[in-house]
Amino acid sequence: MKLRDALKLNSSEIERLRADILQKAKESKINAYISFDSSGDGIPILIKDNIQIKDWNITSGSNILQGYTAPYNATVIEKLNISGLSPLGRANMDEFAMGSTTESSFYGATLNPHDTSRVPGGSSGGSAAAVAEGSAIAALGSDTGGSIRQPASYCGVVGFKPTYGKVSRYGLGSYASSLDQIGPITQDVEDAALLYDIIAGYDPKDSTSSNMEHTPIAPILDRDQKYTIAVIDNYINEADEDVQKAYKLAIQALQDAGHTIIHKEMSNTQYDIATYYIIATAEAATNLARYDGVRYGNRAKDIKNIEELFVKTRSEGFGDEVKRRILLGNFVLSSGYYDAYYLKAQKVRHLIRDEFNKIYEEADLILSPITPTVAPKLGASEDPLEMYKSDMYTIAINLIGLPAISLPVMKNADGLPVGLQIIAKAFNEQPLFNAALSLENSINYN
Ligand code: GLN
Repeated sequence: MKLRDALKLNSSEIERLRADILQKAKESKINAYISFDSSGDGIPILIKDNIQIKDWNITSGSNILQGYTAPYNATVIEKLNISGLSPLGRANMDEFAMGSTTESSFYGATLNPHDTSRVPGGSSGGSAAAVAEGSAIAALGSDTGGSIRQPASYCGVVGFKPTYGKVSRYGLGSYASSLDQIGPITQDVEDAALLYDIIAGYDPKDSTSSNMEHTPIAPILDRDQKYTIAVIDNYINEADEDVQKAYKLAIQALQDAGHTIIHKEMSNTQYDIATYYIIATAEAATNLARYDGVRYGNRAKDIKNIEELFVKTRSEGFGDEVKRRILLGNFVLSSGYYDAYYLKAQKVRHLIRDEFNKIYEEADLILSPITPTVAPKLGASEDPLEMYKSDMYTIAINLIGLPAISLPVMKNADGLPVGLQIIAKAFNEQPLFNAALSLENSINYN
């Protein structure tokens, strides 16, 4: 059932729907859910395990937070409740949202429902995989460098990363605070607009929240609006055949629907990767300093002094990928290297923004791949550098705070989904959704 249909149900129908989804979630074999909770009475929504739900455990997929109970609701959860929606379970994710496969979770990997020998993507892999297999009607994820859009693409569903500041981060477990945004993962574009309208808006509890009224998108969705859409020709060369085929298909579909396509170039995506992995790890090392065995969750046993408490708790509590990033983050922030790495990365961030702005002088929107390949086999996170490289198309968007929506375009010969993303100027989300709806309509993926 689509979210828009669920929104029309009466309370006894919603109760039946919750029971039905709960049953599906319990029978599911793909490890998308970490836990279930049937106590709510609203339309069931699956929530990534880094978004706080009062009185529920929240662990961000980590051992270090085992046993921690959320003391308050994230603002997005309050907003769901007000609109008659309620959490049904916690979705599996990469530990502290660091990863592109959901394999770094303390709870083990989530499997891709299209082929269980493959990853669902990450870090919001549980959210995307559950929506794809029908064990969730819609879910919330978080996107720091692609974690909503990329798993949505690998699983053949829709994922939307809002403009930075549009959705409150209050109650979201911080990974990299200048990049993180919560957003919807849904079965289609219209549902994404609906769920986004529910969670968006100014929140005085989040100092980076945009103090601007949210104009609901779903009621005025218009697939007939025509836009100028830029495609980045040199980007696509680095993608494999399936992705190139999807790209051509989408360009043709957009042209047939009356949009104007213009061709552009951008600088090498390797700069984006380097910049992102400096800024994200620097912020992560800072944010994760709070997990010290004193204030949250797990505490190491048999300790003799305070230093041992920190060291043992952190050594036992964090997984390898998280430790790698804390090391890297502390290194780029250290006094001898700060200027050479962190400061330089902040400058490159501005250059990336300038490049996008230049394209937006002529175009309303940009069409881009999400990943260079379809969902890889399980084990894809074993080579971290290769995994980081697969984020080449998604991370620039977070570095400069833009909104982007990922939607499925085709299936390859093995039946694996290939998605693409449409990117808009900051706060220009209505055209983004209109064009996404137009593309969804003209390609007919389902
Ligand atoms: N794959 C990226 C990373 O590992 C993005 C993760 C995310 O968006 N949370 O940092």
